[in-house]
Amino acid sequence: MAGYTPMMEQYLSVKATAKDALLFFRLGDFYEMFFEDAITASRELEITLTGRGAGQEERIPMCGVPHHAAEGYIARLIDKGYKVAVCEQVEDPASAKGVVKREIVRIVTPGTVMDSKMLGDASNNFIVGAARQSARVGIAACDLTTGELYVTSFAESNEAVKNIMNVYRPSEAVGDEASIAAINADLNPTSRAVLTTVREEADLRRLADQFPEEPWSVHEPVRQQAVARLISYLDETQKRSLTHLRSIKAYDSESYMSLDAFTRRNLELTETVRDRSRKGSLLSLLDRTRTAMGARLLKRWIDQPLLNQAEAERRLDAVEALHGDWIKRKELRDDLGEVYDLERLAGRIAYGTANARDLNALKNSLKRIPAIQQSCRGLNATPLNALADRMDSCDDIAQAIELAIADEPPVTLKDGGIIRPGYDKKLDELREASQNGKQWIAELERQEREATGIKSLKIGFNKVFGYYLEVTRANLVNLPEGRYERKQTLANAERYVTPELKEKEALILEAEDRMFDLEYESFIALRDSIAGQMARLQRLAESIAALDVLQAFAEASAERRYARPSWTDGDGYDLTIEDGRHPVVESVNENGVFIANETSLTASEGSILLITGPNMAGKSTYMRQVAMICLMAQIGCFVPAKRAVLPFVDRIFTRIGAADDLVGGQSTFMVEMKDIQVMTEQATKRSLIIIDELGRGTSTDEGMAIAQSVIEYVHNHIGCKALVSTHFHELAHLEQSLTGLRNGCMAVKESADGVTFLRKLVPGAADSSYGIYCAQLAGLPETIVSRAYTLLNEHGSFEIGLTPDRAVVKETAAAYTDSAVRTPPVIVAPAPAPASAPAQDVVQLAMFGEPA
Ligand code: ADP
Repeated sequence: MAGYTPMMEQYLSVKATAKDALLFFRLGDFYEMFFEDAITASRELEITLTGRGAGQEERIPMCGVPHHAAEGYIARLIDKGYKVAVCEQVEDPASAKGVVKREIVRIVTPGTVMDSKMLGDASNNFIVGAARQSARVGIAACDLTTGELYVTSFAESNEAVKNIMNVYRPSEAVGDEASIAAINADLNPTSRAVLTTVREEADLRRLADQFPEEPWSVHEPVRQQAVARLISYLDETQKRSLTHLRSIKAYDSESYMSLDAFTRRNLELTETVRDRSRKGSLLSLLDRTRTAMGARLLKRWIDQPLLNQAEAERRLDAVEALHGDWIKRKELRDDLGEVYDLERLAGRIAYGTANARDLNALKNSLKRIPAIQQSCRGLNATPLNALADRMDSCDDIAQAIELAIADEPPVTLKDGGIIRPGYDKKLDELREASQNGKQWIAELERQEREATGIKSLKIGFNKVFGYYLEVTRANLVNLPEGRYERKQTLANAERYVTPELKEKEALILEAEDRMFDLEYESFIALRDSIAGQMARLQRLAESIAALDVLQAFAEASAERRYARPSWTDGDGYDLTIEDGRHPVVESVNENGVFIANETSLTASEGSILLITGPNMAGKSTYMRQVAMICLMAQIGCFVPAKRAVLPFVDRIFTRIGAADDLVGGQSTFMVEMKDIQVMTEQATKRSLIIIDELGRGTSTDEGMAIAQSVIEYVHNHIGCKALVSTHFHELAHLEQSLTGLRNGCMAVKESADGVTFLRKLVPGAADSSYGIYCAQLAGLPETIVSRAYTLLNEHGSFEIGLTPDRAVVKETAAAYTDSAVRTPPVIVAPAPAPASAPAQDVVQLAMFGEPA
């Protein structure tokens, strides 16, 4: 480092300890960056790059930001995926000998951001610690802003890592090389998690003092290592005690339904496929929460459907009680609306970043708890009573804040105005002294006006000169020579002082200084004592969040006419849905009409439904709706149906849509086959399988052959409930050979004006996909359309092996030859309803017109 100035040498030695971060180096009122950091930061922040002499010939690159605006700049850098190390002056420059001592006081990283402005209130910001040992993976996920810490472990598999990353969507991960590689491979390409690889095992001894109450010996070693790694990274970056991380929620990943990324996306659980926005997802539909904690928990509940039926029943019991009493629900919602984000408030208190307004927000929130408890108890449902019992309204904390903190304190902590009169005797005395001093000054102003006859004479104050008497230029003639001591000349006034005024000023300022110090000390003492109660506040926040989600379910269910689902007992795992609807499609349907449909997958009527029918008929909506209904039931919500009796499924497999096909550059067909492979390996009798357009993406013959063999496999070897749609109408014949399979199709109405999709599932198979008709609707030129009909005709009939009792009409392509009639003739008219079919179907069938 020869040749650098001492300050630069200091910079370089600090920088050496934070190589992977941009170093914000405090110089007076600025944070400066040098060398590469300056070049990067000036580019990313669009600030001017300058240079600075550093003791060598060449100037070095430099840029800087004012310290008071630093948070915003740091936020932008974090958002772009950088880490920022903040280096402060740690001794008073006035008393420093030589270069002022400087140290890194914290390293801000995407997973450790504490500033809630940077994070949405409604989502968590997780940082993950990962470890692998003897073919097991341990994952610890922490949201530093809320103090939540989850840990789980599972047998090593890329799929499992991927699924868990989908639950937490971490913005940062730290782990050994192998874990980080697995996480990196499995993260969605659009997410930008910052990954940090550590070589050594973390010291497990640190766990015992961070989590004194945790029985560490019962936790699997790989979990311990995951948590230890995370804590050690937090220690390194945060450089402060992590008082709000005191409890751990350990769970077995098997207690939640594992949802693969495709299913999550295809069902648009928390974001839409098209633009990954929250709006238009199941999450946004159900989000009638009133608190940020509830909104975050809702997302986790949706991401982790239950595999514990008793727990799902408990949630449903609570939802039913809330659903049944809209007046109590409204009261509760009003009260919840007044509760601030307790988790993040608690986080800020523990972190020492909470101000007096935060404490008041906490107090006001706590005051609502008794009313919330009362509403819960009034509903008389066991799980709500239990929640109310678990809530600790922390009266003592509310009272302590009430006593100490003024009603409308400023955001700053060092300028007074925080502490309520009467809280501290010494403070009151000082306040009185300063008050008296100010009165004395007001009195002096009055006296001097009288004595000099100058009405506009006034006493003012500024930080540089303190108190002064001010006389305008026009009045100077009336001021007796030598009455005051001149201090400052302005354009049209003179400012003066007197020895007495200076004396009083010293008293007042001293009192104020001491007052501000005292207020600050009292505030910190109070905040620290509340920080000591962190565990209580966190437990309360948890109960409030759960209650909020339950009431959100009830509210959404009431608004949208959902019904409580129930579960089938026994091994049949029958599934019956009356008037089922797709929650999201129903909510966005432009004309507001959604056609409800029945679903019956039962041992007696068949567990597999093979759906044929044209594009746009509603097949995929229908299949998704069944999956959504099962899933909603298992997060404890009512479902969009008149009645639903469901199997408690262990897993939902979906293979839907084209949206994922480009991920990883794999061909559509390969992606489909991989999904099917996972499904054949893992589906059980209790699973639900949904496959849309099975067998597309390869030649017709092969596609159809694979489709048939997959269906046979599901039927003969898995034996679970399945909904399969296909373009291959020819597969309808499977109904004859597979006893557990039935054909269904989406009804279509023919008329002189064209084809109308009735969106109604009816028994039987369709025999045309209206492909040419769709082309015509899309506005293809006349010549192409009529040529296509001719070709279709030349290739002969598309008569297929429909079961005779289900399909009434089998039109041949000959009917299309009259190109004047562009509308294809009636195709499928499913048979007159079987005796058991509901009357409604008969009505639908009657709409088909006369079969030819
Ligand atoms: P398919 O899978 O047969 O091509 P989709 O399920 O994608 O058809 O449905 C096409 C469109 O029809 C959907 O976007 C939706 O707007 C509408 N739709 C589907 N089912 C219904 C229904 N039951 N009621 C009303 N509209 C529906």
